[in-house]
Amino acid sequence: MSRRGHAADLAESVRALRDYFAYLGRSGVLFPIPGAPPPASAKAATILATSPGDPAPAPPAPQATADTLEKIRDDLGDCTRCRLHQTRRNIVFGVGNPKARIVFVGEAPGADEDAKGEPFVGRAGQLLTNMLKAFGLNRSDVYICNVLKCRPPENRDPDPVEAQTCSPFMLRQIRAIRPKVVCALGKHAAHTLLRTTDPITKLRGKAFDFEGTKLVPAFHPAYLLRNPRSQWEARTDLKKVLELAGNGGKP
Ligand code: SF4
Repeated sequence: MSRRGHAADLAESVRALRDYFAYLGRSGVLFPIPGAPPPASAKAATILATSPGDPAPAPPAPQATADTLEKIRDDLGDCTRCRLHQTRRNIVFGVGNPKARIVFVGEAPGADEDAKGEPFVGRAGQLLTNMLKAFGLNRSDVYICNVLKCRPPENRDPDPVEAQTCSPFMLRQIRAIRPKVVCALGKHAAHTLLRTTDPITKLRGKAFDFEGTKLVPAFHPAYLLRNPRSQWEARTDLKKVLELAGNGGKP
C-alpha cells in the first residue's frame, strides 16, 4: 500500500475512534454527566460496561404472578401436612364467589362438612345461610372457608400446630380474593387472624385492620345455636360487616 493509502486508513480509524468516544460520552458511560439523560437502555449500558471476562449479568427477576383460588387448591393437593389427614373424609377448601366483598372464615369442618367437602352445610351452616338471606344475600355472593381444611376428630379444638400448618392456605385465599371485609366467625378464626387471645365477647362487633382490609370478629353460628339470645348481637355484627363491605355486600 502507498504512503497516501496508509494516511487515509489512519485518518479513517481516528475518525471512527473519535465517534466511538463521543458516543460513550453522550451515553454517560465514561463519566456521569449531571443532568444528562440516562443511557438509551439498560441493555446498551450493560453491553458497554462488560468485558468477556466479566460474569454474565443476572437474569431478570420473574414477574410475580397473581395468586388464584385454583392455584391455592392445587398447592394444597391431597394434603398430609398435619395429622388431621389421617381421619378426614374430604378436604373442605372453601366455597363461594372468588370476587366476593365479604369472606367468612370459620374454625374447621364438622361432620356434615367433612362428608360433603363443603364448609358450613350443617345446622350451624344453615343458620349462617339464613342470616345472609335476612340481609338479601345468597351464599354465592360471599366466600366461606375455615382456618383448617380438615375436620378435627370429635370436633375438638384445633391444636396450635394444626392451625399454624393449615392457616397459610386460608391467608392466601383472603389475599387472592381481596375482599372489602373479612368476618372471623368464632374465637379460633379471630385469634388466628388477629394474633390475639382476647375473648370473642371482647372482640366481636369491632372493626380491626387486617393487611389493609377490615376484619370484624363475630360469634360462630354453632355458638348461636347453643345461645340463641346472642343472635341479636350477631345480627348487629353482620349488619356492620355489610355496611363496611358496601353495595349491600353483593360482589
Ligand atoms: S388440616 Fe390443613 S394442613 Fe392439615 S392435613 Fe388438612 S389440609 Fe393439610
